[in-house]
Amino acid sequence: MEGSLYMVRFLLGLTLLSLVSCSEQAQKQSTTFFGGEIVNPTSDYVVLYHNDLYVDSVKLDANNRFAFNLDKIEQGLYHFDHTPELQYVYLEEGDSLLARLNTMEFDESLVFSGKGSEINNLLIELFLAHEEEEPLVEDYYSMNPDEFSEKIDSLHEEKSNLLKDFALDNELSERSMAMAEATIDYNAYITKEKYPFYHKRKTGEVTFHNLPDTFYDYRKNIDLGNADFTYLKPYFDFMKWHFGNMAYMTCLEDCATEDQPISDRLHFNKHKLALVDSLVQQTDLRDILFRNIAIDYLLKEHNPSKESQLFIDKFRSLSSNEDHKAEIDLLYKSIQNLQPNTTLPNIALKDSDGNEVTIKDVADSKKNTVFYFWTAAQKKHFRNVNKHITELEEKYPHYNFVGINLRTSYPQWKSLVEEYQLDKGKQFYGENFKEIQMAMIIDGLNKCVIAKDTVIVDGFADLYKSL
Ligand SMILES: [Zn+2]
Repeated sequence: MEGSLYMVRFLLGLTLLSLVSCSEQAQKQSTTFFGGEIVNPTSDYVVLYHNDLYVDSVKLDANNRFAFNLDKIEQGLYHFDHTPELQYVYLEEGDSLLARLNTMEFDESLVFSGKGSEINNLLIELFLAHEEEEPLVEDYYSMNPDEFSEKIDSLHEEKSNLLKDFALDNELSERSMAMAEATIDYNAYITKEKYPFYHKRKTGEVTFHNLPDTFYDYRKNIDLGNADFTYLKPYFDFMKWHFGNMAYMTCLEDCATEDQPISDRLHFNKHKLALVDSLVQQTDLRDILFRNIAIDYLLKEHNPSKESQLFIDKFRSLSSNEDHKAEIDLLYKSIQNLQPNTTLPNIALKDSDGNEVTIKDVADSKKNTVFYFWTAAQKKHFRNVNKHITELEEKYPHYNFVGINLRTSYPQWKSLVEEYQLDKGKQFYGENFKEIQMAMIIDGLNKCVIAKDTVIVDGFADLYKSL
């Protein structure tokens, strides 16, 4: 881990030299500058958001560089979106920050330089360290609770010490320091929220392992009110696990019969809504948790029902975010539109000659068509799915398999179709990921939609299970 930290610092020096002229120019007109270079760009634009609010978008220049000149910005967590990738960046007024990243190896290649870079490189460093220790932690789950806690606490301490050392050498503002601390803390806390469930699964124990009174002691330190953290991934991921765990245990205690929890998903998700409602006051955190619970519930609830409608009504009464309400309504409408015997939704696609077609145009009028999805970003999945489709085509010649590509640039998609010699008559490019994801409810890599002519047979099929 130390080695890679040095590597980051070394690279910093290099990128700072090559890009320094463009940041000097920018500083003359604006108080805050954020710019950089994207190697192997996958789209023409970079879009900047603060929390989930749009801030600005800029086009890449001929050298694949971008520049945001910002005035009077709110300090905090931003993210920039270079479709299909998304990356977080912490900005403070007066920063002059440069990013360099290579889309072929996104997280690993991202390096910041300039004023404000310390915290951003540190957050990446912490993210990579966390990824590195994940297989280790996976093994710890089978240990007994005390041993497990000890291991997790020592990993936590290692990183806290790293942060302390880092703070000695670098100037970090109080708020950015808090951000780094939260990243370390909540990543550790998540593992403890997962522990009872993972331990039970790993060991095959019939009931949940008894936990010592001190096991959840860290819960006293949880900060439910710091708006700076709301969109910090480890913090939000922790909240999802925390409320999931609490809902499960509450239900087990209050509603279970013969130690069997109520398996009804509506019931369980109502517990979650109620817990968030009673414990979280900070509006943004409340609303994104409500949204998350609603999406989670609806995505697994494939049939429109009275229960689903009741759940949505409950969600609407709790959420104060109109965009979230509209999003959930749209999601539910899409689920209704994917029911058997409904016509395929209107989705615009492009073929490899650049012609606009619709999903209805490419459905086979005589055979059943299976629509599946892939993206260039997930290479392993792409190769697996290719192999699997070839097998399915041999096994089920009376089916027609159509691949829809998402989250890739059009030229990149075309070159992959060439490289892997895919059938151009059966491969199409989807430009609007969000729209297609929502209309076809793409909630997993193996999701597929089966249609007969242009009428849906199974809107929630699985490439590995449904045929
Ligand atoms: Zn219950």
